[in-house]
Amino acid sequence: MKRIFSGVKPTGHLTLGNYLGAVRRWVEVDQHRADALFSVVDLHALTVEHDPARVRRLSRQAATLLMAAGLDPELCTLFVQSHVDEHARLSYLLECTATDGELRRMIQYKEKSVRAQAAGQGVRLSLLTYPVLMAADILAYGADEVPVGEDQTQHVELTRDLAVRFNQRYGHTFTVPRATRPEVAARVMDLQDPTSKMGKSHENGAGIVYLLDDADTVRRKIMRAVTDSGRDVEYDREAGPGVANLLDLLAAATGGNPEALAGVYETYGSLKKDTADAVVELLRPVRERHAELAADPGQVDLVLRDGARRARETARPLVDRAYRAIGL
Ligand code: ADP
Repeated sequence: MKRIFSGVKPTGHLTLGNYLGAVRRWVEVDQHRADALFSVVDLHALTVEHDPARVRRLSRQAATLLMAAGLDPELCTLFVQSHVDEHARLSYLLECTATDGELRRMIQYKEKSVRAQAAGQGVRLSLLTYPVLMAADILAYGADEVPVGEDQTQHVELTRDLAVRFNQRYGHTFTVPRATRPEVAARVMDLQDPTSKMGKSHENGAGIVYLLDDADTVRRKIMRAVTDSGRDVEYDREAGPGVANLLDLLAAATGGNPEALAGVYETYGSLKKDTADAVVELLRPVRERHAELAADPGQVDLVLRDGARRARETARPLVDRAYRAIGL
């Protein structure tokens, strides 16, 4: 049976980008067809300025939301990364496999280190090395597939490179994984700045739809989305990223095709209205189920404890093997 691993960072509230780019497929497809592990990757939340209490709260909230979205602990393993020591154990071995140069080339490092410096904060060393930790997250489980949004492509490439390099040097140890991506909405853009992705840790909440936003808020954000200077509704991600983003959202929410949908609309206003309605309906059940689950946090904690136990059992022998292979 195929093994699948993926995760979300508890650096903010989960967004529509997280849902459409990753979580929805985990729920609808991945957990049914593979031995799938999904993790709230809290160690990754420490790479930039963080508030300890907030990270803890957001981790629990992310896990609750993943269950609300439909991850079923009977079908998959859901756990918090820091509850399983193997991630950090393996990360060090992979730091001894990666080079400084290849980590400095990571786009997200370049962007985030500039942002940290602009905010007058030091650039944490972990901001440079976290792609190695991410590689450990994936390789520790022998994952064949990593279902992620488009922004993670470079990180999965690095993971593949490290796996191949380690295997060549120390003997076959790791499965070389591949990224899988949704056909539509693999990169959901910020509604106020459609040239940058909708990211949960960005400052401008007006451009981000959060999974827990109420219906009125979702509608308001989508109705106020920045559109392009033209008037025609066309699907062109380069020349008209605002309209293309709305078409992607509508297509992802209704199961349509963004290019075909472009032909249906004559005004930006009607496109926005239908997109808002479709997204509200898409998120309604998630929000309702979240309210039920959040009322019983003990239940979520039990799921996470059991998930960590299962994850540990899977990762331990593989990471032990890597330790032996590298000479320890
Ligand atoms: P974020 O950038 O919101 O902090 P994470 O790093 O936690 O997201 O990523 C969780 C998953 O959500 C990843 O698979 C990532 O590719 C996906 N994802 C994040 N933002 C978007 C987006 N705007 N569009 C599509 N997928 C996204």
